[in-house]
Amino acid sequence: AYNFAAGPAALPEPVLRQAQAELLEWGDARASIAEISHRSPEFMRVAAEAEADLRRLLSIPDDYAVLFLAGGATTQQALVALNFAAPGQAADYVVSGHWGKVALKQVQAYVDANVAASGEADGFRDIPPASQWRLSKDAAYLHVTANETIHGVEFRPEWGALPETGDVPLFADFSSSIASEPLDVSKFGLVYAGAQKNLGPVGVTVVIVRRDLLERAGQPRADIFNYASHAKAGSMLNTPPSYNWYLAGLVFKWMLAEGGVVEFARRSAEKARLLYAAIDGSGGFYRNEVASNVRSRMNVPFFLQDDALTAAFLAEAKEAGLLALKGHRVLGGVRASIYNAMPVEGVRALAGFMHEFQQRRG
Ligand code: PLP
Repeated sequence: AYNFAAGPAALPEPVLRQAQAELLEWGDARASIAEISHRSPEFMRVAAEAEADLRRLLSIPDDYAVLFLAGGATTQQALVALNFAAPGQAADYVVSGHWGKVALKQVQAYVDANVAASGEADGFRDIPPASQWRLSKDAAYLHVTANETIHGVEFRPEWGALPETGDVPLFADFSSSIASEPLDVSKFGLVYAGAQKNLGPVGVTVVIVRRDLLERAGQPRADIFNYASHAKAGSMLNTPPSYNWYLAGLVFKWMLAEGGVVEFARRSAEKARLLYAAIDGSGGFYRNEVASNVRSRMNVPFFLQDDALTAAFLAEAKEAGLLALKGHRVLGGVRASIYNAMPVEGVRALAGFMHEFQQRRG
């Protein structure tokens, strides 16, 4: 079966098999990796290797710290304000979908959150061009959501979607598109991503942050909310999500072995091309409403012309081994999430099923 879940999402099969084989006894630890101390030499080695592999995968420069934290992407959405903005200081938000709205909501108690641009009036089917963004004069940072998981809207580098922000650091939520193509980390002050789409199982969140920003005073906060303290402690200020960290490390090794982000960019482009072609070529039987230049390569929401057929479509797809295609409750319809672990053949199978369903029911 092919799993099109939006997150927690499919994991690469070789990773699951390796985890299964190692579950009871890991290496020479004589215990499961889930049972040993995060400060043991065995786990420290796993942790360091995962960080080194992620640095290699994303070409992360040395002047960036890499953190492996609990709390999910939502916690980072709040922490960026606490760490980098003075109380009441302006912070700019470009809201291109549901998760941008959530990010904004997390910080409203801490900063003067300015909506520099929003696609909401248009149902988040497009992203206002950077030339129209209303940026504050002294913003602590500018926050964007690289890929909107529900609305299927993505900032695409080929149209120069992200402006130069000068002294204002650019912060980006890359939860649902990280490691799906090369990333110029040096353009960003901070990048965060919950692992549960492209990086591993839910429970660990990756934060990549320019080290000089860690010196910023931000707002008064406990150590556990302080990125600088986490960086200093090697993400072991408290017990980290060690098993998830280990599994993410296996995913990083798998991605490197498969050819790294260049190869995943190629596969992602091919998968997106196949799926949008199936939708656009259906004569309106299926439709995706997102402006063509911001269509997501990771999450493809679409609707059936006759919504009464949606339930049958989902049930029959499941029977055909095409799982978790139900659209998010915010939008309804159908959504296919096609992250790195989804092979091109999975998308081919879905496109074939769509065609066949239309023949029968159209
Ligand atoms: N940001 C994006 C783009 C997401 O897709 C999600 C979850 O799906 C979140 C944030 C929230 O992540 P978490 O549940 O890890 O807090």
